Amino acid sequence: MNAVRFLMIIFGAAALFAFTDNPAPQTTTRGKRIVIAARTILDGKGGVLHDTRIVIEGSKIIAIDPKAGPVDYDLSQLTVMPGWIDAHVHITWSFGPDGKNAMQGAPTQFLANAAASNAYLTLMAGFTTVQSLGSSADVPLRDATARGELPGPRILTSVEPLIGQGEKTSTPEEIRAYIRKQKEAGADVIKIFASGGLLKGSMTMSQEQLDAACDEARKLGLRSLVHALRDAVRPAAIAGCTTVEHGLGASDDDLRFLAEHGTYLDPQAGLLMETYLKYKERFLSEPYFPESSFEAMPGLVTAHQEFIKRAIRIPGLKIIYGSDAVAGSHGSNAEDFVHRVRECGIEPMSAMISATSLNADALRMSDQIGSIAPGLQADIIALDGDPLKDISSVRRVVFVMKGGVVYKNISGRSATAGFAVRH
Ligand SMILES: [Zn+2]
Repeated sequence: MNAVRFLMIIFGAAALFAFTDNPAPQTTTRGKRIVIAARTILDGKGGVLHDTRIVIEGSKIIAIDPKAGPVDYDLSQLTVMPGWIDAHVHITWSFGPDGKNAMQGAPTQFLANAAASNAYLTLMAGFTTVQSLGSSADVPLRDATARGELPGPRILTSVEPLIGQGEKTSTPEEIRAYIRKQKEAGADVIKIFASGGLLKGSMTMSQEQLDAACDEARKLGLRSLVHALRDAVRPAAIAGCTTVEHGLGASDDDLRFLAEHGTYLDPQAGLLMETYLKYKERFLSEPYFPESSFEAMPGLVTAHQEFIKRAIRIPGLKIIYGSDAVAGSHGSNAEDFVHRVRECGIEPMSAMISATSLNADALRMSDQIGSIAPGLQADIIALDGDPLKDISSVRRVVFVMKGGVVYKNISGRSATAGFAVRH
């Protein structure tokens, strides 16, 4: 299906939102001033501001000024912070009309609507930017949300990933050509698979192939994200990739190597496996989700959490926030915060920083997003509760502004009554 037709299908989904009981986004006219009053602001970099006001003009924050007025939104009963960034989602992956996981399916009207819904749920959950890794269907959704025609987060996409299939399958020149093709197709970032599944298996690309892939991305001005486990983790850093995705099975020495090379690590703390287990019947299929893989999943949850516990003890290692949201978990992206804090021993403030300023650094967008400061995009959320004291308050996002536009404001009502994610 060509992109234009898919775009038309995506637009069809917009009608859905005319009938929800959530308020329509309030578009600010250019230059209109909005003032938000807050008692507690987490600035995204580890700082806490008290009793002040955020002044917004157009899409940007222009000042933090306790004397600014008049107040348009009084969020003083809430915890205010930058919109979250999820560095690893699959925004278009959904359950198909038969209820089964449809990640391999061709775009259809049903899946286009589902993708638009995923974007909406993700934004309502407080995620104002996501990086979607591995589908050309992301492109029209990214562009429609960027134009403000669909409610959704700012989307970056890798378009199609490079999947390593052994050292004899592609020459470095062929790999470089493939990377250039993704850029031409609109990729914001390059995704590379240098390992197979989470359970076992060794590296699926040679060092030479990996070097070519990351180097070509760099030449094009793009970041490279490598799905790397076990023996592939260190070669990914040697190749100069930006981020190691998952990283499970890396030794402490490998992790120190990442820290020394400034390579980001993006591990998952529980949501992904939880989603697979919760929707087992929907995912169950050959070859990607055989019965045996579900038997291994509870063990994989523990393995990931033990891995993160080791990783946080490595000095200087930059551990970012990526939920790996698939069908069934869009809108639940914040669950990994809860796992990180409760099961992995991460400090709540570090968990918040990972999804705000640190992720903005990892996306090379810290001049635009990831903190509350003048000059940055007005991506602002508010929680009913204090995540530093009770991490489960990340489930109660009651206010969402993206680029100066308010997409959700149920701050005057009970959070649970206002909005609930259902699957
Ligand atoms: Zn993924």
